Amino acid sequence: MAESAASAQTALDDIANRMEKARRRFGAPPESVQLVAVSKTFPAVAIEPFLQAGQRVFGENRVQEAKVKWPALRAAYPDIELHLIGPLQTNKAREAVALFDVIESVDRDRLASILAQEMQRAGKSLPCFVQVNIGGEEQKAGIPVAETLDFVRRCRDLHGLEIVGLMCIPPDGQPPGPYFAHLARLGRAAAVEQLSMGMSGDFETAIAMGATHVRVGSALFGQRAVEASAIRA
Ligand SMILES: *Cc1c(COP(=O)(O)O)cnc(C)c1O
Repeated sequence: MAESAASAQTALDDIANRMEKARRRFGAPPESVQLVAVSKTFPAVAIEPFLQAGQRVFGENRVQEAKVKWPALRAAYPDIELHLIGPLQTNKAREAVALFDVIESVDRDRLASILAQEMQRAGKSLPCFVQVNIGGEEQKAGIPVAETLDFVRRCRDLHGLEIVGLMCIPPDGQPPGPYFAHLARLGRAAAVEQLSMGMSGDFETAIAMGATHVRVGSALFGQRAVEASAIRA
C-alpha cells in the first residue's frame, strides 16, 4: 500500500508509463486513455496520497462504501471524478446519482429507467456506460452480447440516458484480448466513443484493443484483503 504521496506518485508514474508505452505501441491518439484508479476496500487514508499526487479519477464498486469515504475527500478535492464500476441495485440508484459522476454498470431496463428518473429528479445528466457480459458468464453482471445494441438504443431513446460507452470484465483464466476486441466491435456498432476495459493484469492488452478507460486497482493500491467478492457481488 502506498503510505505517502511519494510512493503514490511512484505507483501512478509506473502505471502512466506502462499506459503510454502501450498507447504508443498500438497507435492510440495521445490523451485518449484515462486511468480510473480503483480504490474499493481501501480507506480514505490510503486514497489521500493519490489525490495529493494528482490523480482525480477513481472507481468504487459499492454505493455504501463510497458513501462512507468520498464526501469528505470530495470536499477537500472538488474536482474528483468518481465512477461507479460495480453492480447497482435499483433501491440505491438515488444515492448513486448523488455520489457518483459516471455510472459504468448500466445493464438492464429497470435500472436504466430508474437511473434516468433519479437524474431528472436531481437535475443531473450523468454519463453512463452499458456493462456487457462479454463472456456470457452466468454469474456475471452485464447485458448479454446479443442484446447490447438494442439495449443501448433503448437506454438512449426510451430512457433518455446519456450512454457514452461500453464496459466489460472478461472471464477469468482466459486470454482477454479477443473479449476486448469483441467489446470494441460492439462499441463501433453501437456508435459509442468510449470503452472501459482492462484492469491491473491486462490494461496494456485493453489499450491495444482500443480502451479509452482502464480500471486499475491492485497495481496502484496493493492487494486487497477481500478479493473475489468485491468483483462479483
Ligand atoms: C476491482 C475492480 C477492478 C480493479 O481490479 P484490479 O485487478 O485490482 O486492477 C476493475 N474493474 C472492476 C469492475 C472491479 O470491480
